[in-house]
Amino acid sequence: MNSAILINATYIVSACLFILGLKLLSHPSTSRKGNTVSAIGMFLAVVITLLDKDIISYHWIITGIAIGGVIGAIFAKKVEMTSMPELVSLFNGFGGLASLAVGWISVLTLANQSVSELARGVVEGSSNQGLSLTISNLSIIIGGITFSGSVIAWGKLSGKMTSGAITFAGQRWVNIALILALVAVSYQLTQTPDNANLIYSIIVLSVVLGVLSVIPIGGADMPVVISLLNSYSGIAATAAGFAIGNNILIVAGLLVGASGIILTNIMCKAMNRSLVNVLLSGFSKPIDTSMKVEGELKALSPEDAFYVLEAAQSVLVVPGYGMAVAQAQHAVKELQELIESNGGEVVYGIHPVAGRMPGHMNVLLAEADVSYDLLLEMDAVNQRMETFDVAIVIGANDVVNPAAKEMKGSPIYGMPVIEVERARTVFVLKRTANAGFAGVDNPLFFKDNTRMIYGDAKDTLNSVIREFGDD
Ligand code: NDP
Repeated sequence: MNSAILINATYIVSACLFILGLKLLSHPSTSRKGNTVSAIGMFLAVVITLLDKDIISYHWIITGIAIGGVIGAIFAKKVEMTSMPELVSLFNGFGGLASLAVGWISVLTLANQSVSELARGVVEGSSNQGLSLTISNLSIIIGGITFSGSVIAWGKLSGKMTSGAITFAGQRWVNIALILALVAVSYQLTQTPDNANLIYSIIVLSVVLGVLSVIPIGGADMPVVISLLNSYSGIAATAAGFAIGNNILIVAGLLVGASGIILTNIMCKAMNRSLVNVLLSGFSKPIDTSMKVEGELKALSPEDAFYVLEAAQSVLVVPGYGMAVAQAQHAVKELQELIESNGGEVVYGIHPVAGRMPGHMNVLLAEADVSYDLLLEMDAVNQRMETFDVAIVIGANDVVNPAAKEMKGSPIYGMPVIEVERARTVFVLKRTANAGFAGVDNPLFFKDNTRMIYGDAKDTLNSVIREFGDD
């Protein structure tokens, strides 16, 4: 069989496996299988691409695979579960960087062609070349924006820089000027593709635009940026695929780009914001983060919490980022079983942006073998909040913050939250009364029916579990 036909036929099989993998990933019970199916698709695509007759020498490819493979394996082995969101963000950035590199090489190749064609007096095909240059250039631009934007997102998530919005006067105008400059230099590149300075300028402008686009977004809006950058990395890969004429790169990039946009939309809905509103929020009126909430905090010991839980018939658990930090998911499952064996019911209320990455809580609870049927969405638990004897908030803060409904002017005002304060009793398990990721004080802690149980969430849960054992 002709090798081009074999390669494209295999690409079709790979594309089908990607789509099937995505379908399987949509439910926790089939998600592992989805991951494996997609990985097989990618393996097939890579192997068949390596058979391409245009590859003259394999030594750079093997060197790249070896270096990338070793770095990837070390990262994956070392990463703490709590650092997964930052790692995912960096991976998006590396995807962007790879597309930038592919676009750059492609522009250089096209420039060499045009110089030799000019030398031979060839004039036809120039409009085709303009299109190819534009597409390759897009790969550089979107790749550069994705790379630097993702590095900033990594800094914000990992605490290497402030997680809040960073703004300065005239920022929007600087961004507009950068975009106009990019358009002008890109046009110039189609006229004189062999001018290396133009490529360098495009790279610098895109990288700076990526930084300036992400720094004004912060706090509770970060989930939207992360899913959007994920989508950008797919779009950059699609442009790279067009640039080098690789069909599977186009398909895979489009799948990532489209699913990233869908996720972005879900995140926006979860926060009751429009995408434009999130992207431009840092540029509008300054947000009032000085709002202080005052009142009396009522602390409770794990021993006293046990007496309440022992008598509870219906318990809601609301996990958040602190559960991931404390690695408390197994202790939560143990407490759930004890309450159930005591005749009580336990369900979990999952907020779409709880934790630091989409599905963060679902992954942790699945790891502890919590039945998926017990994980309820925010709306489902809010509808029956009054029926819960106790709501246990485990290392969550922003996603249960009533300031989102009560305090106009708060940075999270309007974001739907899990309204635990309507349960009969609320236990908040955290180490201090400090604010969460969005940096907003939480009036929940001061409500009459709230009791603060200070300490590492896993230690607190284990203390309560011990009380059940001693009973
Ligand atoms: P928050 O960051 O609001 O709150 C987490 C709380 O956990 C903190 O207040 C902290 O309080 C507590 N905590 C930390 N360590 C421990 C521990 N060992 N034991 C007990 N408690 C602990 O998290 P939420 O999940 O409520 O909200 C998620 C936030 O992150 C939202 O603002 C969301 O927009 C943002 N975000 C979400 C992303 C996503 O995709 N899901 C991505 C990026 C950002 P203390 O220090 O007092 O213990």
